Amino acid sequence: MDQKHIRNFCIIAHIDHGKSTLADRLLVATGTITERDMKEQVLDDMDLERERGVTIKASAVRMLYTAPDGETYELNLIDTPGHVDFTYEVRRALQAAEGAILVVDATQGIEAQTLANLYMALDANLEIIPVVNKIDLPAAQPELVAEEIENLLGFPAEEVIPVSAKTGENVEQVLQAVVEKVPPPSGDPDAPLRALVFDSHYDPYKGVIAYVRVVDGALATNQKLRLMAAGIDIEALEIGTFSPRMTPTDRLETGEVGYVATGLKEVQDVRVGDTITLANKPAAEPLPGYEPAKPMVFAGIYPVDNEDYLDLRDALDKLRLNDAALVYEPENSAALGQGFRVGFLGLFHMEIVQERLEREYNLNLIATAPSVVYRVVLTNGEEIEIDSPAELPDPSKIEEILEPWMRVQIWTPSDYIGPIMELVTNRRGVFEKMEYLDEKRVLLTYQLPLSELIVDFYDQLKSRTRGYASMDYQFSGYQPGDLVKLDILVNEQPVDALSIIVHRDQAYEKGSALVRRLKEVIPRQQFKVPIQAAIGRRVIARQTVPALRKDVLAKCYGGDVTRKRKLLEKQKEGKKRLKKLGNVEIPQEAFMAVLKIG
Ligand code: GDP
Ligand code: MG
Repeated sequence: MDQKHIRNFCIIAHIDHGKSTLADRLLVATGTITERDMKEQVLDDMDLERERGVTIKASAVRMLYTAPDGETYELNLIDTPGHVDFTYEVRRALQAAEGAILVVDATQGIEAQTLANLYMALDANLEIIPVVNKIDLPAAQPELVAEEIENLLGFPAEEVIPVSAKTGENVEQVLQAVVEKVPPPSGDPDAPLRALVFDSHYDPYKGVIAYVRVVDGALATNQKLRLMAAGIDIEALEIGTFSPRMTPTDRLETGEVGYVATGLKEVQDVRVGDTITLANKPAAEPLPGYEPAKPMVFAGIYPVDNEDYLDLRDALDKLRLNDAALVYEPENSAALGQGFRVGFLGLFHMEIVQERLEREYNLNLIATAPSVVYRVVLTNGEEIEIDSPAELPDPSKIEEILEPWMRVQIWTPSDYIGPIMELVTNRRGVFEKMEYLDEKRVLLTYQLPLSELIVDFYDQLKSRTRGYASMDYQFSGYQPGDLVKLDILVNEQPVDALSIIVHRDQAYEKGSALVRRLKEVIPRQQFKVPIQAAIGRRVIARQTVPALRKDVLAKCYGGDVTRKRKLLEKQKEGKKRLKKLGNVEIPQEAFMAVLKIG
């Protein structure tokens, strides 16, 4: 297709505002898929995504659209991941487009990711087409939301298109706006090939499939290609477009979006942001902005049953095939046995991976408290990075510990400012500013240590605001902190997997809360079990699990049989997730307790 008839665009929205539904509706309106296919959300491939309504991986679909001017246009819809942890991927996907449809829910108004995504789209110089979605709902207030869009974002209210992605109302107008407002791609067809990789997935037959936007030059089959950042040469086994399924083609011209089957075995080799060029006629410079993904949050992941270790390794290997950001290495814990230290982009990424391991691979897992990456300056001047409390050197060797801080933005109805302030203050947050969006809603900006965000912060925020607040965060830099390692001893033995790094001012409070909680979840033994929290050799909190007085069943003898059976069943269930430490059995809940004492 000639360049003037190409439009590349994406859809940006806060979660649940209707991005996927609108995407599907555009595919139906252009005849790319049938109404029946639409039931399956084409752009959300994984079950987990569909269930959570979260689009995790970006993808791209080509549509042909005949506009009222009689001309046929090639519209490439690039789907972006909808999650704060995937900011880098979102930015790359936005770079592959010239325009963005900004979707705002007519019953909700502008929310955290509406703005965060809009700012990224503006950064990428995209033409914005604002739409208000879900106008079919009785609670919809399209005029009010259009005004909000004018006041907050500066787009004239009368240009905001009111649509229903569900019924299809006014969706044709959106397609027309894409053709009229989004500029055609401006690359140079005569320059050496430069194609931006904005996503990838692993295909068992064709190897890693790179999703590309041809910026300059053209791609053809059987060319020798080079991944510039990775420094790997490949032969394009197949090139094609998503229409919406993978459809081979001979060429991808300047400005077009499609895929390259690389034959490579590891997505890690085909990084988002890399530039594909010709091996024998390479471009002088790669496209700007490449960064390797950097994990920010680490946790130990262990099988409950030690015999599942190899299954866990296989499952991680498989997940990694499609998740270039996932890193892991074997780790040994005295308490939990053999497992892995796993690195994630952020807390949502961590949740998704853990859930997939348990659900898709049927693994029974114990995860330790997540840790951020600390920078430790040693007394000898050396600086090391650690991502686990176990790696923290002896305090006598530490000059200073630095921890990552985040800039956190919270959108909330003004009624909840008090509870949010309280939460953030408890989490060592520093207030930066408060902006009123309208009479009822505010945008609060804070600086918070990442370590405080990864433990139960989001759930707390949601529960304190009845689900009304939304948040977004970005890394803002490393800062020194008065941090110490808090160890937990069960029956005088340190349990490595329960250690956490905490701020000194919070050590006593957290230590007390943790031993109290552990006392509740560690079952009674034949003997008394002391549970202690300690900093170095100094015990700062202590509880004791009293010895078992009688057999659990003793009190039931002669009594109700069903009750007896129930008790036995309960005990059996509890056993499934027990880890034996010395002569004390520690249940799964004990390891979870650390996650809930924020
Ligand atoms: P995304 O997270 O932005 O991709 O949002 P989805 O497309 O998954 O939509 C979130 C929810 O809103 C789903 O339950 C959709 O069925 C629903 N939804 C999306 N668009 C509309 C609409 O125009 N009208 C109504 N009534 N519901 C919609
Ligand atoms: Mg979606």
